[in-house]
Amino acid sequence: MLKVGLTGGIGSGKTTVSRLFEEAGAGIIDTDLISHQLSQSLEIVQAIATTLGEQAINPDSSLNRAAIAEIIFDDNAKKQQLEAILHPKIRQQVELQLQQLHENPYVIIVVPLLLETDFHTLVDRVLVVDVPVDTQKQRVIQRDDRSEQQVQQIIDQQCDRDIRLQKADDVIDNSVDLTQLQQQVTQLHQKYLHKQT
Ligand code: ATP
Repeated sequence: MLKVGLTGGIGSGKTTVSRLFEEAGAGIIDTDLISHQLSQSLEIVQAIATTLGEQAINPDSSLNRAAIAEIIFDDNAKKQQLEAILHPKIRQQVELQLQQLHENPYVIIVVPLLLETDFHTLVDRVLVVDVPVDTQKQRVIQRDDRSEQQVQQIIDQQCDRDIRLQKADDVIDNSVDLTQLQQQVTQLHQKYLHKQT
């Protein structure tokens, strides 16, 4: 079964594109969703509290995502410790879901940080959703309650657009409208249906 890693910068359109692939009939594994589900496990919450401190946890025992983002923003060691807790568990879940989806001709695995982490070793191909940085910022600001400066900081921490494009096997140009986006997904769906690993 062909495993396609779908990635792209913040707000590039990964979720939008993965929904279109899902409608086309592809199997989808969403590592963001897995990460959210894992972060509800008490074992994970406790491990994160031990590593990052109690301020990473809300009074109701849920993770304080804003605090975590702040803690790891300029502390690379803490960021790596957090990843060491989460990434092996996410990988396990991905492997499990791959087994469950084994009858699909191909699977799209959505990994925002596919090229910044070793998650790319899980996939056969890299599909990048690409937009110009200005469009990326505009769409995130419109969608979320974030300032341009905050969005720029996140973009600066992610893989550079040119490097991401160099590492891509396939690219979806999402500077277009939804009809043209759909057309690109349909073309890639056909390609992946007929492609071996
Ligand atoms: P994140 O990295 O934050 O998880 P993402 O890569 O999953 O984001 P989306 O949430 O799919 O990105 O898209 C970001 C925003 O841009 C959303 O509000 C979405 O509706 C909008 N959007 C996506 N594609 C297009 C498009 N082609 N035209 C207009 N708006 C779009």
